[in-house]
Amino acid sequence: MTLPTYPPTRCIEPSLSWQARERLLLAPYAMFSIHSEGRAVQEESHPYRGPFQRDRDRVLHSAAFRRLSGKMQVFTGDMGDYHRTRLTHTNEVASLARTVGRTLRLNEDLIEAMALLHDIGHPPFGHCGEDVLDACVKDHGGFSHNAFALELVSRIEQRHTSYPGLNLTHEVLEGQQFRSDKNSGTVPMLEIQVVDACDSIAYDAHDLDDALKLGLLQWNQLQGLGLVQRVMRFSSMDQGNTAHRRQILVHSLIDLQMGDFIQHAILQLADATELDSKSVQDVGIQLQMSPELESDKRELEAFLFEQVYRHPRLIEVRSRAATRLNQLFRLLKAYPQRLPERFKRMVNESGIEHTVAIYLAGMTDRFCDEQYVAMVELGRESAQDWS
Ligand code: MG
Repeated sequence: MTLPTYPPTRCIEPSLSWQARERLLLAPYAMFSIHSEGRAVQEESHPYRGPFQRDRDRVLHSAAFRRLSGKMQVFTGDMGDYHRTRLTHTNEVASLARTVGRTLRLNEDLIEAMALLHDIGHPPFGHCGEDVLDACVKDHGGFSHNAFALELVSRIEQRHTSYPGLNLTHEVLEGQQFRSDKNSGTVPMLEIQVVDACDSIAYDAHDLDDALKLGLLQWNQLQGLGLVQRVMRFSSMDQGNTAHRRQILVHSLIDLQMGDFIQHAILQLADATELDSKSVQDVGIQLQMSPELESDKRELEAFLFEQVYRHPRLIEVRSRAATRLNQLFRLLKAYPQRLPERFKRMVNESGIEHTVAIYLAGMTDRFCDEQYVAMVELGRESAQDWS
């Protein structure tokens, strides 16, 4: 069955088709849309949007994507409104990755689709929420945000009556599959490598920015970090007020790492100009920064882990969130009739544990808190036996 484009679109003659545009702009080693393995349910091609553009739009218009605005990245909403949410982080990753993609002449549409998708499966309360749900269902397949992203776009999201999910292309799903199993031993497409690298560049820089703004870190703690020393050599961070210095630091950290990654990638790809996307994977090209910057980056990440992610203020947030998610999980497992109708219908096929986990995983931080109050605190008298 081939689904028609709906609503029917008037046939137009674009001045430059997406096929011609890619032929003109992309390097041989990019993933060309015409080489896509297509979708699980075949669809007519669109008159002016390529398949990866359509995937990007499908992710962008999904309910799960909109909910990213209510999910914490590292810091919760009650800590202020300066810091990143999961949505703003996603947009930063997409922006950086498109810049790299354009410079290396890779497929920007594919990069953007995968960047917008990459964190869509995060449950409320960040990695803490993921750890709690994983522990709750450890005997039933476990939980990971990367695998849940695939389940969301393949089964849970609804955009068409003829199939579940978003019916994304094989390549976008393959990219997300790589994220959920990085130890598979396979080398992914260059486009997903770029998204992965830019995810890391973005969160290291913005977590540092947010932690400084929130007072979790002090400037003098950063002096010994190799990456910070590198940018201080070229940036006038001793001038201006604290906010200005922070902005310069973040801008410079991103600029330094992006420039290094791109320069190093150009060197890595210098002998691959005759190879196509699949051949580049087969010969095992893995894009990365120069060894010196990789080393400094690992130092920054170890610093962030110790000084920010394990900060007492975040441990307190995580502890409260863990208790709430745990109690909600136990309550809904004991009383599945409290699940929304759609999720009740999934219990037979998916099992109660997995169904409760994915229902909770779809919640925003705020909705999860509201459900905790409504179901657990206000419902405590009527549900003594589950707690
Ligand atoms: Mg991310």
